[in-house]
Amino acid sequence: MKVLVINAGSSSLKYQLIDMEDESVKAKGLCERIGMEGSKLTHKVPGKADYVEKREMPTHKTAMQMVLEALVDPEHGVLKNINDISAVGHRVLHGGSTYTESILVDDNVKKVIRECFDLGPLHNPANLMGIEACEANMPGTPGVAVFDTAFGMGMEPYAYLYAIPMEYYDKYKIRRYGFHGTSHMFVSGETIKFGKLPAGHQKVIVAHLGNGASVSASIGGKCVDTSMGLTPLEGLVMGTRSGDIDPAVVQFIANHENKTVDEVLNILNKKSGVEALSGISSDFRDLSKAEAEGNKRAALALASFKHRVLKYIGAYIAEMNGCDAITFTAGIGENDAALRESICANLSYAGIVIDPEKNKIRGKNVEISAPESKIRVFVIPTNEELAIARETVRVAGLK
Ligand code: AMP
Repeated sequence: MKVLVINAGSSSLKYQLIDMEDESVKAKGLCERIGMEGSKLTHKVPGKADYVEKREMPTHKTAMQMVLEALVDPEHGVLKNINDISAVGHRVLHGGSTYTESILVDDNVKKVIRECFDLGPLHNPANLMGIEACEANMPGTPGVAVFDTAFGMGMEPYAYLYAIPMEYYDKYKIRRYGFHGTSHMFVSGETIKFGKLPAGHQKVIVAHLGNGASVSASIGGKCVDTSMGLTPLEGLVMGTRSGDIDPAVVQFIANHENKTVDEVLNILNKKSGVEALSGISSDFRDLSKAEAEGNKRAALALASFKHRVLKYIGAYIAEMNGCDAITFTAGIGENDAALRESICANLSYAGIVIDPEKNKIRGKNVEISAPESKIRVFVIPTNEELAIARETVRVAGLK
């Protein structure tokens, strides 16, 4: 059984065709510059050279048509027939407070995704275009919407409500939603499975440390807290996002720099984070290199990033009254062994002991803590596409 996973952006469409028998990727690719000049499709099949096609893609519907043509092409295709695709899984950013789980797409689901345009203005419209493009090209093939916010819906009101007048929740559903939910769900689940954590000992903290970064706390796979909020701006210091900040800073900058709130928010999203602190780059490889060369601001940016990660991990250990496992994932979490070691060194009070040799292993699930460690520590590569494909199989009732 094959599942097509779609992640549609405003001018791009990423896809993966996954064979669910062995969860292998049969083909994947990217349509770029949809609706612009110079659009192209890059289609990759393991063991073959990349196939690149430059053709006009005025809409997501034409992009999707090209993807399907590539998938059944006699030379670089991997399917005989489009009907060999059992279902399509769609990454959708925001399900608002309506959807606590992935769901089979129908008119009502599309209506809710549309109603959430306000909450996810950059992503939800594109996600809906992806869904409609598939419906137009593959009528009758079930589609499943997998929401990035669904995992965070497990939180209790005391964790998800902001302490602001209740009318704003009642009117607009302003609350903490949390993002990277599909990754947190996948990685916390894999931690329980891979680490064989017994029932009753499944308090897991996941540190998803990438260009966007967030931490979650879950018990038995159910989210109890997560660091991102109404939008992905809250929480950790990130590549270009400030993370937590006193809201009065927005007012202060707006007044003193004669800027609108929207302009200040743009600065907090796109011109802040480690890039702003370092004045060098948002990329951790550049920052580590600069720090090693003695650059003080790169060192400051890295220390600030680590400080905030520790603050959240410490808070979540306290919230859950303990923790059984901490797992690192995403670009930085999976690759930056020195940062992991340094974060864990600060958790020695909680009895964490890292095995430096295991901490060097890359590219696969690994337990990096020593046997005597009181909290087990793992590195588990995230795989959002596989998580979406598994959800699609489950929700479409294919197994
Ligand atoms: P992601 O958003 O998950 O793709 O992660 C992107 C971030 O991972 C960037 O800041 C990269 O610098 C960082 N990253 C990727 N590889 C490494 C590495 N080997 N060491 C440190 N950071 C890395």
